[in-house]
Amino acid sequence: MNLAEKIRFLRKQHRLSQGELGKKVGVSNRAVSKWENGSSCPATDTLLSLATAFDVPLDFFLKHDENGIPAKNVEAGMESLRELYKIGRGPSSTHTLGPEKAARLFLERYPEATRYRAVLCGSLAKMGKGHGTDRCITEVFSPKECTVEFDLGAALPDRPNTLILSAYQGAKRLDSWEVYSLGGGSIEIRGQAFHKPERIYPHNSFAEICSYCQEKNLRLWQYVEKFEGREIWDYLSRMWQAMKSAMEEGLRAEGELYGGLHVKRKARHLLAQRHIDENAETRENRLVCAYAFALSEQNAAGGDVVTAPTCGSCGILPAVLRYVSERRGLGEEAILHALATAGLMGNLVKTNASISGAECGCQAEVGTACAMAASALGEMYSMTLDQIEYAAEVALEHHLGLTCDPIRGLVQIPCIERNAVAAMRAINAVNLANFLSDSRKISFDTVVKTMYETGKDMSRRYRETGEGGLASQYFS
Ligand code: SF4
Repeated sequence: MNLAEKIRFLRKQHRLSQGELGKKVGVSNRAVSKWENGSSCPATDTLLSLATAFDVPLDFFLKHDENGIPAKNVEAGMESLRELYKIGRGPSSTHTLGPEKAARLFLERYPEATRYRAVLCGSLAKMGKGHGTDRCITEVFSPKECTVEFDLGAALPDRPNTLILSAYQGAKRLDSWEVYSLGGGSIEIRGQAFHKPERIYPHNSFAEICSYCQEKNLRLWQYVEKFEGREIWDYLSRMWQAMKSAMEEGLRAEGELYGGLHVKRKARHLLAQRHIDENAETRENRLVCAYAFALSEQNAAGGDVVTAPTCGSCGILPAVLRYVSERRGLGEEAILHALATAGLMGNLVKTNASISGAECGCQAEVGTACAMAASALGEMYSMTLDQIEYAAEVALEHHLGLTCDPIRGLVQIPCIERNAVAAMRAINAVNLANFLSDSRKISFDTVVKTMYETGKDMSRRYRETGEGGLASQYFS
């Protein structure tokens, strides 16, 4: 964001008119208007007053590019895997699950309101139509009136998905919430801690977890059980059942996906089609892709899927879990242990970086999902902790820089194929880790940090805004 965009964004965030802001910092509304259209800049002492009025550091105005964004402020520990794996409606956990959850909480708090208003900012505004954000929100408040507005102005760089909810009784505004959708269906409400999930894990780096597990002689799934309790297996079993039933539905479905791109469902065709000379490798690719397509197509159609770690990347982990468990004849227990292992790796990325395409590009969604799938396979193959870490690291490292540019915000192109490619890549990463883990130089923690930095340096055109990449090149 440039200086003009930052001032405009903060003024709107604080719900001030140009005149009201001018009064606060001792200038006319015309001066504020000129700052916001870029025809003049505030003097240094006025910038100081603006920083005080908006409660941001002066640096926020002085850094005009996105390279100066500080490292993520990571709190101690990590949240439960229940905050990572969630059943919800596609096509985008950030744009559907998060806003829907916020709207439900808001409705619970203000059921007496006669009407509601939602303002979508940043990526929520730019991709909200394709992702169906407006539909999700109005359905929650129905049959009461809810107007949805799309504010296409710039969002704060570290808050790319902001939603402002307001409740009214007649002309009187009861309250407003500023909600940030963080990815994977998680939300934060400005100034409120009531919904903040507890951090049940004491560690938040793979290095710490690994040394703890080595000291206590634990596998990663045992580490998960230790801090989540045995009840986690019921929860993960529910997630696996939901993954399987969404996959089955996707494998049966036919026809075109909605949204006007005329994308035909292909999972069923992939499953049924056999190459005349099909060898083991071709068959593996075909089946893994069919499973990944099935879930991604269900997601694109707005069906219920499990975030792994997001809706957009929901096909990767279940595809490899199903394929490998079928091939090796593994039962549910082995699959749940693999899900727990994968969840831990996804949780590390979510805690230390981001799993949101709007924040860090597709590397944060599909890259993370690929790392989760690789670690799950590592557990299914009874690999060492070192090999599991290597597999996850390879999987994420080779997605670094991957942009998020879904055409018309529909989570169809490139997302569906991308899930299939990442599922195959997870299998390759595990094979590589099996042979080469002794020689590795980069840790999983390092690649997570690198992914976050890369995402923050990435132009926002490539972070789920529809302004760059395939989204801006495709005209039809
Ligand atoms: S490009 Fe990747 S991050 Fe963006 S919507 Fe598609 S799957 Fe999600």
